[in-house]
Amino acid sequence: MHELSIAMSIVEMATEESERRGGAQIHAVHLKLGHLSGVVKDALLFSYDVACEGTPLEGSRLVIEEVPVTVYCPACRSQRTLASIQHFYCPVCSAPTPEVTQGKELEVVALEI
Ligand SMILES: [Zn+2]
Repeated sequence: MHELSIAMSIVEMATEESERRGGAQIHAVHLKLGHLSGVVKDALLFSYDVACEGTPLEGSRLVIEEVPVTVYCPACRSQRTLASIQHFYCPVCSAPTPEVTQGKELEVVALEI
């Protein structure tokens, strides 16, 4: 399962950070998750709880901030937020927008200790 291996690497990373701080208790992990990351939020939340079992992170929360897909429209010369990830067209002028500038994120942004 894709999400489980991601959850395990998040837990591993946070555990190392906790050890670096002398075994500090981690209450929550904040994650940025883009709509194009290919990760299912609910599956990741579930996997996180599984991955935390028996680790110093047991009982901590995974807080997911979802990042909408943003593209660069060459016609408008500006950033646009896509209404749907099925259609890579500018919502203002309908030009094709192949350049994704945001939405592929899968990164830990903060730890609550
Ligand atoms: Zn446009």
